[in-house]
Amino acid sequence: MKFVSDYIVFSAPSGGGKTTLVNRLAKKYKELVISISATTRPQRPGEVNGKEYYFLSKEKFESAIDKGQFLEYEEVHGDYYGTLKENVDSLTKQGKTVLFDIDVNGAQSIKNKYPDALLIFIKPPSNEELIKRLTARKSETKEKIEKRLQRLKYEYEKAKIFDYIVINDKLDETIKEIEKIILK
Ligand code: ADP
Ligand code: 5GP
Repeated sequence: MKFVSDYIVFSAPSGGGKTTLVNRLAKKYKELVISISATTRPQRPGEVNGKEYYFLSKEKFESAIDKGQFLEYEEVHGDYYGTLKENVDSLTKQGKTVLFDIDVNGAQSIKNKYPDALLIFIKPPSNEELIKRLTARKSETKEKIEKRLQRLKYEYEKAKIFDYIVINDKLDETIKEIEKIILK
């Protein structure tokens, strides 16, 4: 399979469905590999260090920043999140297409570094549905969900710089729509 870019970036408001979508795509196409970010946020039950994220202490994360090891990093919802340069380089060297599940600022940074990168913004069908999905995921407290919702307006404003905006209503249809965009 050939893809339109070596770098495909997905952003969405928290709970928009990007993790679900990139996992489905990476499972279906062996050439697609998800970039594993580093973060200082607490590990959720069921998450494995080195699988969903590299979970780092604030000190370790800041030391990696000082050493210039990040392709991009941001503070999101009060925690650091970043993409390690070495990981991405090693994947593209193996001929893989890299999928990024990162925030809107990170997406912009990737586009600045790799102008050929494809940026896809995933939108939930409505705010009500987003709240429903976030609550059902049970990974955050009410307070944390509130914090994530406060960022919505900013994220929707930033969606303008993306190449495509896809509404994630029915999962199977969303996947088909994304396939139409990313497959050569
Ligand atoms: P994100 O990574 O953008 O924060 P997730 O992929 O974790 O979002 O999705 C948030 C929740 O919504 C998860 O529980 C997931 O199973 C669910 N979800 C994702 N896409 C859909 C969809 N199209 N329809 C219904 N539920 C969905
Ligand atoms: P979560 O805590 O739900 O896993 O992710 C919170 C937010 O951080 C999401 O918007 C996610 O896309 C973003 N994020 C995850 N990894 C990175 C990264 O490496 N860089 C940036 N800029 N954002 C990231």
